[in-house]
Amino acid sequence: MYTEEERKEIAARYRELLRDWKNRKDKDEAKLVRIAFDLAVEAHKDMRRRSREPYVYHPLEVAAICAKDMRLDATSIACALLHDVVEDTEYTLEDIERMFNPQVAMIIGGLTKMKGIFDDGTRSIQAEYFKRMILALAEDMRVILIKLADRMHNMRTLHHLSREKQLKIASETLVLYAPLAYRMGLYNIKTELEDLSLKFTEPEVYEHIRIQLEQSAKDRDRFINRFIYPVKNILAKHEIPYMIHVRTKSIFSIWQKMQRQNIPFEDVYDIFAVRIIIDTPAETEKLDCWKVYSLITDVYKPKHDRVRDWISIPKANGYEALHLTVMSHSGRWVEIQIRSRRMHEIAESGFASHHYYKNMPDEGKAIEDWLVRIREQFQNPDNDALSFIDDFKLDLYSEEIYTFTPKGDMRKLPVGATALDFAYNIHTEIGHQSIGAKVNLTLVPLKHILKSGDQVEIITSKVQRPQSEWLDYVVTARAKNYIKEALKAEKKKYYKQGKDLLKEYFKEIGIDYNKQNVRQFQEYTGINSIIDLYYEIAMKKIGLKDLKNCCQKSDKGPWFNALLPFSRSKGNNNANTLDSAIAERIRNKPEEVLLGEKIDIEYKVAKCCNPIPGDDVIGIITPRKPIMVHRVNCKIGQDLMSSFGNRIVKAKWNKKDPILFLAGIQFTGIDKIGFIYQLTDVISNKYALKIRSFNLTSSNEVTEGKIMLYVHDAKNLNELIGEIKKIKEIKKISRMNPV
Ligand code: MN
Repeated sequence: MYTEEERKEIAARYRELLRDWKNRKDKDEAKLVRIAFDLAVEAHKDMRRRSREPYVYHPLEVAAICAKDMRLDATSIACALLHDVVEDTEYTLEDIERMFNPQVAMIIGGLTKMKGIFDDGTRSIQAEYFKRMILALAEDMRVILIKLADRMHNMRTLHHLSREKQLKIASETLVLYAPLAYRMGLYNIKTELEDLSLKFTEPEVYEHIRIQLEQSAKDRDRFINRFIYPVKNILAKHEIPYMIHVRTKSIFSIWQKMQRQNIPFEDVYDIFAVRIIIDTPAETEKLDCWKVYSLITDVYKPKHDRVRDWISIPKANGYEALHLTVMSHSGRWVEIQIRSRRMHEIAESGFASHHYYKNMPDEGKAIEDWLVRIREQFQNPDNDALSFIDDFKLDLYSEEIYTFTPKGDMRKLPVGATALDFAYNIHTEIGHQSIGAKVNLTLVPLKHILKSGDQVEIITSKVQRPQSEWLDYVVTARAKNYIKEALKAEKKKYYKQGKDLLKEYFKEIGIDYNKQNVRQFQEYTGINSIIDLYYEIAMKKIGLKDLKNCCQKSDKGPWFNALLPFSRSKGNNNANTLDSAIAERIRNKPEEVLLGEKIDIEYKVAKCCNPIPGDDVIGIITPRKPIMVHRVNCKIGQDLMSSFGNRIVKAKWNKKDPILFLAGIQFTGIDKIGFIYQLTDVISNKYALKIRSFNLTSSNEVTEGKIMLYVHDAKNLNELIGEIKKIKEIKKISRMNPV
């Protein structure tokens, strides 16, 4: 029940939602939203959020994001208000069907489909969830847009949750939701999701960059004012109506750049971009944007290889603009983005709003095409969730190249795509039968990586069949899926042969041929699917010897039931064959792992990020091995958290342990006699640390080095790095993981 004050607050928030909802068309629309609002208030009346606030604030905020940030339609706003009703209250989908139009019922159905997968501890719940969400796209794109708004509000209120939940949700957001928002052309949402993720996974980094940005704001403003002054003049002189915005790079993107190039904040040169938005009719917008380009380059010289024409060929997410980088009079590179007002609106709130209101045939066509592709690609519902996500991620992240058929048709492909990807892009059968390609009239193998502008002709042969190595040559999910399917069909031909052979082997040893025993054997071999197992047996790659070995591994009878449990973490096609081992480990997972010399709970530190005391860490339950400890900012750790949230365990360093840990640093310096001496002096004398190995390579006066050494903890290591930085010959230094 609500208090009087809460009722007032709910009413106030509702009024605000209506104010934000600018594109309301008629009374019927307003009525629909009102009914949804009333139902949400009623249905959630006894529920509270973690913050103790009334639950209904949440759907109200989600609806506000749909209205304001995405500018969606009335149906979407109503659905956002109702999005948790069926899942969390006594109201059912039938109730919704009775009270609302079929569209609303369908979207709510799509939003609620994810229910019922949470009772199974073994599969990746998140992967399964995400897969169902993407498949719900096939029904209505608004399902995904509302899910993104839902995630956005959950990220904004994440501080109310426990640390493990924060890490799980933040990783998931970074790995899946932010790229998805980008793919849907929702730049502002993508940026906020990334920044919030960083804020929760690496609060110090986030704070550091935020403060740096704040402190440098004044200088930046001064520079920008001076820079745009002549631009404004020339635009005014030619009577072009314009607005200028300055877009500052997001904290997350700055951090990515600092890491990728191993540079401090001050060295990130493109902290901001200047955006020129011109008011011009759609018919002449392209011409007018180029006119502005021409005027600007009269003032500033452009960098010739940094012109990006996203107007002639929009990005796959619908983005359109003309980008260039110019040299300022003070010798600094500045990025300028030129767009029409229409392009700007699409970039701000995604193409969805335009899609629903203006019915412009070409707008958002790229995303529609993408959705069609997603639908056909992922039609196969028993594609297992984790490999689905892997393939889907490929599709989300990719930047694109433009290639051409011999007739001049353009084909967009992700960076890294090969001739074989191209073949599958043209047609499945062409893919299956391809034997080679001509790229710009030169003969190349199928694994040849294409570049933008390549003209590609595929050479086929009727006798060709898809090969399993092909999976290594392709980067598009489309090609991967078709190859997998073809290989599977091929393998199925051997199904019976393999099965009969295995029956014979079982008979020879004297064990029952039953489902469970076959499953145990399959797990022993580590083969993902039964089709693959029978195929390997038919091919005589697995035989009686393996079965015997498998039996010997077991030490108690009835021998087969005690065989090794669970041998893989992915690729399970069948819910029935799930092993109880991981579920058991998750059920019994410890409250916390204490890391240090004395071990209560068995754990291992992950090689990928090599945590040492003082690092912020988490543990992840693995099927068989001890608990794996990752740094919270480790890419692999985040990937695991984003797929297996239920396996996260709190981990903490035991402060009292005075032991040493192996760590690595890498550096680049100017080759001058003496600086290596200074370096080792800092490590061995000033810090009294023991060096395990020291590698140096020099070329052209530049020395690169890698040092492995024993340190006390992360603080110790960071201080050391800070001290080494002071040596003036050292140009770059950073922590490195042992190899
Ligand atoms: Mn929700």
